[in-house]
Amino acid sequence: MKTSFDALILGAGVSGLSVGIVLLKQGYSVEIWAKDVPPHTTSDVAAALWYPYLCNPRDKAITWSKNTHDYLKEFALSDPRSGCMMRSFIELFEEPVGEPWWADAVDAYRHALPDELPPGYVDGYQTDVVLMDSEVYMRWLVDVFTELGGVITIREVSEFSEACVANPVVINCTGLGSRQLCGDARVYPVRGQVVRAALNSFSDIVVSETASGLSLIAPRIDDVVLGGTTQANNWNTEVDEEDTAEILRKVAALSPAFTDVNVLDVKVGLRPARDEVRLETEQMNGGVVIHNYGHGGAGYTLSWGCAQDVLALFEGVLQ
Ligand SMILES: Cc1cc2nc3c(=O)[nH]c(=O)nc-3n(C[C@H](O)[C@H](O)[C@H](O)COP(=O)(O)OP(=O)(O)OC[C@H]3O[C@@H](n4cnc5c(N)ncnc54)[C@H](O)[C@@H]3O)c2cc1C
Repeated sequence: MKTSFDALILGAGVSGLSVGIVLLKQGYSVEIWAKDVPPHTTSDVAAALWYPYLCNPRDKAITWSKNTHDYLKEFALSDPRSGCMMRSFIELFEEPVGEPWWADAVDAYRHALPDELPPGYVDGYQTDVVLMDSEVYMRWLVDVFTELGGVITIREVSEFSEACVANPVVINCTGLGSRQLCGDARVYPVRGQVVRAALNSFSDIVVSETASGLSLIAPRIDDVVLGGTTQANNWNTEVDEEDTAEILRKVAALSPAFTDVNVLDVKVGLRPARDEVRLETEQMNGGVVIHNYGHGGAGYTLSWGCAQDVLALFEGVLQ
């Protein structure tokens, strides 16, 4: 049966909701169909900080992440309901490093000062980024989407033809679900496990990636997210106790503030990784599908920039 909406979006993660809000703000009517809705999507597991991690191609990622940061800074300044906040961010390295590849995406950055380097680290970057408290932010995105007139229907799609029959313009934001829906084996899971712990006095975001893997400290509004794991092609969505122990060991090595952690919760999500984000139009089943998936470890960081490009493709299709 045909819907009466201008666009049908598949997926209610950060990608689908951001696209939906951008379209609604341009005056288009939008329905989302999603198998899972917040707080039960991969997006809900993220920390989530602005940080272009595990995403390609880099030239486009710089533009998308810069545009996204502009949106997020505005939310942090103007709307406390959004759960967005500016934080100092430090990325640590065991070797001296040159300019970060994402330098053009931030207003300014500097190398870390000696007293900002934990034992074993010789270099680092400091910049100010927006952190989204994902629980608050995802709820806020749903609220903004529905307040603007968007409709969310819980519905799984097994083939695009189901969606194309309902609406001639379908926007595919199904993340890892695109592996099956598009038959796209280039999308694969990168398993992330994170520990949610009680807040302490530590207020900066710290990230490092060494031979022993990714470490992350992200203090949010009511808790601190500690990470993490980056396990490619691991489909396990259960908590792994050994991963938890390793995460706690790694963050304790970063700061004595985390030698004795009060664990509140442990979560697992599968990042929708791809050699490059797929953002393009495809003619299909008598309709048009605009793909927007494969954001890897940066779905939040790329969200608004990608949504702007989806809007441009959508308006091109309408013409
Ligand atoms: C531990 C962890 C930490 C992370 N930290 C960060 C971070 O700090 N910053 C950052 O930018 N990113 C981070 N990420 C990555 C980020 O979470 C993802 O890139 C992002 O969530 C992808 O969003 P999405 O909307 O594309 O996909 P998802 O959130 O997976 O949403 C996909 C949607 O599509 C729906 N769907 C799937 N298949 C179908 C189907 N067949 N029919 C209907 N609906 C379907 C799903 O139900 C869901 O609603 C992290 C990820 C993890 C796991």
